Amino acid sequence: MQFSTIPGYAKQKLNLTQLVQEERLPHALLLAGPEGSGKLALALALAQYVLCRNRTADDSCGTCPSCSKAARFIHPDIHFSFPVIGSNVVSDMHLAEWRRALSYSVWMDKHYWAMALVGEKDSGNKQLNINKDECHKIIQKLSLKSFESGYKVLIQWLPEHLGNEANRLLKIIEEPPAKTLVIFVAEQTEQILPTLLSRCQLVKVPAFGHKEIGQYLSDKHGVPESEAETLAFMSEGNLFEAIQMAESRTTNEAGIFLEWLRTCYKGLVGNMLEQVDLLCESSKEAQKQFLFYGIHFFGEVLKQKYVKTLHLQLQVDAAKTAENLSGILDVDQIDRMLQLLNDRFFYIERNANEKLLFLDLSIKMKKIFRREDFVDIFESPLPGVLNIK
Ligand SMILES: [Zn+2]
Repeated sequence: MQFSTIPGYAKQKLNLTQLVQEERLPHALLLAGPEGSGKLALALALAQYVLCRNRTADDSCGTCPSCSKAARFIHPDIHFSFPVIGSNVVSDMHLAEWRRALSYSVWMDKHYWAMALVGEKDSGNKQLNINKDECHKIIQKLSLKSFESGYKVLIQWLPEHLGNEANRLLKIIEEPPAKTLVIFVAEQTEQILPTLLSRCQLVKVPAFGHKEIGQYLSDKHGVPESEAETLAFMSEGNLFEAIQMAESRTTNEAGIFLEWLRTCYKGLVGNMLEQVDLLCESSKEAQKQFLFYGIHFFGEVLKQKYVKTLHLQLQVDAAKTAENLSGILDVDQIDRMLQLLNDRFFYIERNANEKLLFLDLSIKMKKIFRREDFVDIFESPLPGVLNIK
């Protein structure tokens, strides 16, 4: 992949390309950043850049035979090492899944990777690890002669899973064969053995900015601008998460949300329970999407409240409901509904009990609709208080 396809990170890109241009590449680099940041993508772009036969000052050419192999993750001089599941298992046994996962998304996180390895059902209770055999494989790969270009690169994803096995790699990293580059790509540097850490040149890769994510979603995934902005904000700089939310937007999300909202408005508890059950049967992504749509919807209601002539970024039905609601609800009620949906979005990310969460949300929405969510001690004193003689 080319640097130009990665949004943002101007400083890191300059830093990395200069290392190559000025022939100052260290033996080992450590790209460290949070989940959903561009660290793995930058590692892939750097490997391609190092091996490109036609590189410019700031990027690989993208078309030479070397680039074309690197782009498909099959360049013989780009080696991969990553955590896997199970004992006696090494990366090479899962190269096909690895290439497939990278082709799906270079922003992927370890949860997605675990799922790609063992399926969604089992991924939660299986531990990713890098074992002794994998360390021997790494040493073996680094000791090989390069096939094509003189340089060979090893991308080691998530060295935090090495644990103490990292000790086995110290020697080869300290004194590697010529023209060898190891790029570690890590999330939690505090879990890496200090002796390994101290042998790497560190490049920090912060989370993406909201602007970059928003732009990426509208350019690459056709998400309308205002929705992309909200998704960017909700994803907290995690591009993988933002893309997943964008992709799971269903065409009927408006219908599902509006029906639920109507039920809350009418306060029909039986229907509420039915809809909560339905929501709980859907996937976590769909539940997040439901809440996300609600946040977007009430954001539009709020806009309508302030600027009457605004064109709402909603489908016809939803826009009509939003207009009606902006007439019925005051700003404070809309604010509280938004806050409620926002809170629930973050709770569900942190594995709250879904049934309780959606039931509680439905009842609170009903109360806000009816302005019953405040107990004003002056207007409605607690029973008994007035009976004191
Ligand atoms: Zn090239």
